[in-house]
Amino acid sequence: MLKISSLIISGSLFVLVLYLCCACQSNAQELKPHAVVHDTASSPVQPTLVADKTYLLGKFDPNKHPDFVKVGAPYTDRPGMMMRKEAFEAFERMWNTAQKEGIQLRIISSTRTFDQQKAIWEGKWTRFAATAPKPKDRALKILEYSSMPGSSRHHWGTDIDLNDLNNPSFESGGKYEKLYAWLLAHAHEYGFCQPYTAGRPSGYHEEKWHWSYQPLSEGFTKAYPVAITEADITGFTGSETASDIQIIQNYVLGINQGCLGKQ
Ligand SMILES: [Zn+2]
Repeated sequence: MLKISSLIISGSLFVLVLYLCCACQSNAQELKPHAVVHDTASSPVQPTLVADKTYLLGKFDPNKHPDFVKVGAPYTDRPGMMMRKEAFEAFERMWNTAQKEGIQLRIISSTRTFDQQKAIWEGKWTRFAATAPKPKDRALKILEYSSMPGSSRHHWGTDIDLNDLNNPSFESGGKYEKLYAWLLAHAHEYGFCQPYTAGRPSGYHEEKWHWSYQPLSEGFTKAYPVAITEADITGFTGSETASDIQIIQNYVLGINQGCLGKQ
């Protein structure tokens, strides 16, 4: 069984070194390994986790990033999908087992850049103008299911949406009821967790379709509040609401604690 906790940042075993230089902030397209997770313990080889500000905000091109791979058929029927290589390989293993057991996992969304998230956000910003005229109300309405640009886990290449974007499809009588039960029973064996579960004190509504590759995403989640402040969440319509809403505390960190290695 995959020992997730042994692969990721954990307590005093690692020191997160974030080197946020002027050069990398001014050159958003060029991602360099400025930030690493440094293993201070004597344990065997641990993964190096690149987590600079540019990366965490989704301001890079996954097509040019050495750790990303293309995701094609039979895992998705949509073009242009990319994932972190390690996350995709884990997904392939999960997909294969699921397939043998009659479960057809299908990726319908994976990595999204800042600009892609901005297009989603600003589309909803316009659509919700009449029903939520006040900026904060409108932002909170969008935040039921969509992230502010710069704060999405989809920026990291570790998170995927599976099969359908409606919770009832995964519930009793829904066409993906069995699939969801399978994920609840087995996804953790491949490193995947559901970040947006029911009953969390803050953050997005429940999303039964959204799964995260924890051996990488846990590190990015922990790096985020170290590297990013709400002043960095900018560059789109309605961004002035980010600090009032406390987007980092309530949304980036408002996840199922199981995805942070806690229960
Ligand atoms: Zn998602």
